[in-house]
Amino acid sequence: MFTDLKALVRSIPDYPKPGIIFRDITSLIEDSAGFSESCERLAAAHRGKDITKVAGIEARGFIFGAGVAIALGVGFVPVRKAGKLPGETIGQNYALEYGVDTIEIHADAVDGDDNVLLIDDLIATGGTAIAAVSLLRRTGAKVEHTGFVIDLPDIGGAEKLRAHGVAVEALMT
Ligand code: 5GP
Repeated sequence: MFTDLKALVRSIPDYPKPGIIFRDITSLIEDSAGFSESCERLAAAHRGKDITKVAGIEARGFIFGAGVAIALGVGFVPVRKAGKLPGETIGQNYALEYGVDTIEIHADAVDGDDNVLLIDDLIATGGTAIAAVSLLRRTGAKVEHTGFVIDLPDIGGAEKLRAHGVAVEALMT
C-alpha cells in the first residue's frame, strides 16, 4: 500500500471560475489502488476510536465516506443538500462566498449513543465541515473526528475546525 495518492489528484485551472485551481479527485477514484488506499488510510487513522457511524458530505464525501464506513464496519449517514432526504430532517445553514447554503440529515440518523466520524474529499474554508459537525452534534451525537483526502492549509479551514474541538486527519495537503 504505497500508492502516491497525491500524484493521482488532477489540478484543473479556472474551474469552476477563472483563477480557481480545482483539485479533481475523479482521477484518484478511477484508480483502483488509489481509491481503496484512500478509504483504507482514512479508516486506519480512526480504528480503535469506537466510531459508530461515518457521515459523508454530498457529493464527493459520499464516495470516500461509504468506503471508510465499510472498512470500519459501521453504517453510513448522508449529509445532503436541502430538500433531498425523504424523511423528517434537521438542517443547518452555512455561509458561502456569495449567499447561504443548507445541509440536512435525517433527524433519526444519529443520536446521543453515536460517535460519528465525518468524511469529505476536501477542506478549504472549513465552512461546510463546521456546519456538518454542528448539525450532527444537535442530535446529541459525539463528533470529535474528521477525515479528508485533501487539506488546503493556506485557506485555514482545518485550523478553524480544530477550534471546534475536532481532530482533523488529511491524506495530503
Ligand atoms: P469549504 O466549505 O471547506 O470551503 O469547501 C469544501 C467543500 O467544497 C467540500 O465539500 C469540497 O467537496 C468542495 N470543494 C471546494 N473546492 C474544491 C476543490 O478544489 N476540489 C474538490 N474536489 N472539492 C472542492
